[in-house]
Amino acid sequence: MKLLKLPVCPHCQAVYRYDEVKNMCRYRNIECRHCKKVFTIETRKGKILFFTADILLLVGLNLLLFHFAELHPIGLLLVTLIFFGISLLLVPFTVRFRVYDKYSEKQLRQHNERKQERHKAKS
Ligand SMILES: [Zn+2]
Repeated sequence: MKLLKLPVCPHCQAVYRYDEVKNMCRYRNIECRHCKKVFTIETRKGKILFFTADILLLVGLNLLLFHFAELHPIGLLLVTLIFFGISLLLVPFTVRFRVYDKYSEKQLRQHNERKQERHKAKS
């Protein structure tokens, strides 16, 4: 599943371990330890998606348990909290690394310049 995968460096595809990603979430930009290029850590988009899915799942679980298991409300709350706690372990899998903005801007400019040059050379 593409949505739940540990992020890789957008420059050199270096793989980062689970706990490394977890620590990296505190920062906005990080220099890759392999290629020394900077990338941006994108946590917001993944988190929004993740928590939306999580909440829907928990609501569904609550409804199911409430109707079929006749669980005490406190038991229901406990189950919900445990499930939520477990699901938090998945957060690092929703993190994505993106090429650092300034860098990608430069790249894009260079790319366009090259394209224009080629175009000029042709005509
Ligand atoms: Zn790298």
